Amino acid sequence: MTLIPRPGILDIAPYVGGESKVEGREKPIRLASNENPLGASPKAVEAYKALAAELNRYPDGGALALRQAIAKRYDLALDRLVCGAGSDELISLLVRAYAGPGDEVLYSRHGFLMYGISARTVGATPVTAPERNLTADLEALLAAVTERTRLVFLANPNNPTGSYLGYEAVRSFAERLPADVLLVIDAAYAEYVEASDYDDGLSLVERLSNVVVLRTFSKIHGLAALRLGWAYGPVEVIDVLNRVRGPFNVSAAALAAGVAAINDPTHVERSRAHNARIHAWFVRQLQRLNLRAEPSVGNFVLVRFGDAPGAAAFLKSQGVLVRAVGAYGLPDHLRITLGTDEEMQAVVDALERYRQ
Ligand code: PMP
Repeated sequence: MTLIPRPGILDIAPYVGGESKVEGREKPIRLASNENPLGASPKAVEAYKALAAELNRYPDGGALALRQAIAKRYDLALDRLVCGAGSDELISLLVRAYAGPGDEVLYSRHGFLMYGISARTVGATPVTAPERNLTADLEALLAAVTERTRLVFLANPNNPTGSYLGYEAVRSFAERLPADVLLVIDAAYAEYVEASDYDDGLSLVERLSNVVVLRTFSKIHGLAALRLGWAYGPVEVIDVLNRVRGPFNVSAAALAAGVAAINDPTHVERSRAHNARIHAWFVRQLQRLNLRAEPSVGNFVLVRFGDAPGAAAFLKSQGVLVRAVGAYGLPDHLRITLGTDEEMQAVVDALERYRQ
């Protein structure tokens, strides 16, 4: 007898993370996963290490201390917060709780891959709306809403394009969505954005009953290894997530490091300032090399190449790992995470050799 998974499961192309190894190089330059090149806050590292003494204890399943720290930092209501093992887990829990076979999960063409994967996992249908200038087209998204649409995912800023939508556009979009469609604003890169018309959406959660915002500790907090994210939403939605999540879905190590990270805004600011400076420098270097970086507000840039796979292979041969984004419908671009000064100099040197 053969084991047959549920319909749709075998249509899923497994999520393949950014490469991390290059044969023959002990320390490749890793710019494929939008990680913080400065690492985690030293205070978070300390809290993580201190946890070793209590590895025999279960974590607090309600993540109270972390939710309290987040609520205080962002002035939010405690009962509207839930934590997850990365925003990945929260994306999949939301889809699992609100969509099923025959339902539609909507997002824009170059949206994060996990939206579609999570939809297929529950037998729902992923639906994508076209973008304009590598930016989500809110009118196209609205036009794609049907009676079967249960969730709309909007990454703001978006990965891998680096584009963002201003507050007014997102607000009017949220207000025009049917009230029985859940809008999930995925603000994984919120802390990097400097544009004055940007808003992570937390204020919309207070005003509308069908908006959830996702945040992560994987990016500016530099805690990707620990898998930690949070959702802020209506009490009813948070209650639903608490019913479907595992009892100890966030590890004690993640909780401890997360509290310390939230309480170290200096590290966040240092990371943001570094990103802004190296971003401006890198874009100038790319221009000098006649390469075009798409506008980005995140900790990565999308760069167009005549032969993107060839460029990725060459960079890899030089010990530099970047992300091919063909799976996101962008076969002519590579996504390059903004690393340390030394790492970005090495990328520029490698690109100079590539062009010779
Ligand atoms: N959303 C977006 C837009 C992302 O780019 C990522 C990470 N690549 C995630 C969610 C998931 O992040 P994590 O699970 O590490 O919190």
